[in-house]
Amino acid sequence: MGKPVVATTSLAGCFGCHMSILDIDERILDLIELVEFNKSPIDDIKTFTKQCDIGLIEGGCCNSENVHVLRDFRKNCNALIAVGECALMGGLPALRNTIPVQECLEEAYLKSPTVDDKIIPNDDELPMILDKVYPCQDIVKIDYYLPGCPPRADLIWNALVALIKGEQMELPYEVVKFD
Ligand code: SF4
Repeated sequence: MGKPVVATTSLAGCFGCHMSILDIDERILDLIELVEFNKSPIDDIKTFTKQCDIGLIEGGCCNSENVHVLRDFRKNCNALIAVGECALMGGLPALRNTIPVQECLEEAYLKSPTVDDKIIPNDDELPMILDKVYPCQDIVKIDYYLPGCPPRADLIWNALVALIKGEQMELPYEVVKFD
């Protein structure tokens, strides 16, 4: 039997959660022995080439492309893990949720003193911005949640290894606390 296949993506996130994955330090060598990576910024594979066992999702959904990618992950991964507060609750990008989208766009592109060309981008190729930022579980079924901003590397490692080996997740307070 081959190694479990893992895919990762960043939606409306800052890549800090991916940095936390890499923060497992030398255990990355063990991880490479344990799993095979498919679509992911870690190996720069841009499209799914096979059905994956685990999908790690960083970030929530702020535009139509995020929704498309997330649905694609749901279809191509047997289990999805929401990694970090942006994926779980929308995180920092969701701070805009109390302000109408048009107001946000005007503030960013028309009123900001640092913008030269005062135009709200509207090219057809740009993904459509959503009315608010949605956590992943509002769009697709999520199987596991790893909290934190970002989740600690030890939390990601413990959860991933347990899932791969089919063991009970050992998540002591030290790896899930935020202080
Ligand atoms: Fe970045 Fe924090 Fe969001 Fe992760 S949870 S993508 S570290 S802001």
